[in-house]
Amino acid sequence: MKSTIGIVVKVYGLYSTVLSNNQKINCVLRGKIRQNKDLVRYSNPIAVGDYVKFEINADGTGVINSILERNNIFSRKEKGKNKKEDIIATNLDLIIIIQSFRKPKLNLRFVDRLLLRGDKENIPVILCVNKLDLSTNDIIEYINNYYLDAQIDVLMTSAITGEGLDRLSEVTSHKTSLFVGNSGVGKTSILNFLFPGINLRTSDVSESTKKGRHTTANVEMIKLSENTGIIDTPGVREFGLMDIQPHMLGQYFNEFKNYLDGCEFRPCTHYHEPNCEVKRQVELGNIFKDRYISYLNIFHSLKKYYESKYN
Ligand code: GDP
Ligand code: ZN
Repeated sequence: MKSTIGIVVKVYGLYSTVLSNNQKINCVLRGKIRQNKDLVRYSNPIAVGDYVKFEINADGTGVINSILERNNIFSRKEKGKNKKEDIIATNLDLIIIIQSFRKPKLNLRFVDRLLLRGDKENIPVILCVNKLDLSTNDIIEYINNYYLDAQIDVLMTSAITGEGLDRLSEVTSHKTSLFVGNSGVGKTSILNFLFPGINLRTSDVSESTKKGRHTTANVEMIKLSENTGIIDTPGVREFGLMDIQPHMLGQYFNEFKNYLDGCEFRPCTHYHEPNCEVKRQVELGNIFKDRYISYLNIFHSLKKYYESKYN
């Protein structure tokens, strides 16, 4: 039978919805894919964003024969020695982290952890802070300073006034973007504003899917055109741990880069070592202090993770 190529837009266990020639086909996975040894570390062998080769049965359902090579994988790992990684999505061009002013409160520690993940997988990340209509100049300035030397792009938007959304629409055009953020930040409202035809349900939905928040079952790609796709992750709140060795963490902080050569110890973890140039620059005000504190916070959780893994 003739095989066709399509893109996975939704996954439920071993079933998935594949989009091909503007048609959605419900597919199952051929058994041999599930046994592929490169995939056994993952809880789900297939994910939203995957390009697949499939065949259509007489009854209109499909069978996926193979998954094409992935450009990148955005996954999540939960605590616990034997836990497998969940693949949230693959083949991403961009990650948009959505936060909001005031309701719910900004959580830059969460943002910093996600920035690392994008960096590690080589996926560009943009921070979008929504509910600009609830902001104050102080907090706007704080966010800008926080990420200035980190060289992170920050957009500020309001799904109520529309401010900033043209820019968001521009940066996501002709790309596949993953939208992540806690529920309530306005992800759905933004998507509805940008794409009035899609009619996603706001707020109450995130409540009703709460029990599914530890699964990736709610992840779905919304194809807006041939080249533009948005992957919504309602209810995915936790992104767990990442595989970065604690002593390598500093390499991921752009604002540390110019100073790393100045540390006496190599490698230096910029925590307890004497004559640490990074710590000196924090004191001098050349590295934003709260970013450094966020660094320490991540450093300690990685350290704890690696200690439990190897002891
Ligand atoms: P989601 O859970 O991230 O998808 O968030 P929703 O889009 O469901 O929005 C949660 C709540 O925030 C709703 O009551 C929205 O009306 C409200 N909201 C969304 N965007 C904005 C905004 O830019 N400004 C203000 N003031 N409220 C917003
Ligand atoms: Zn140092």
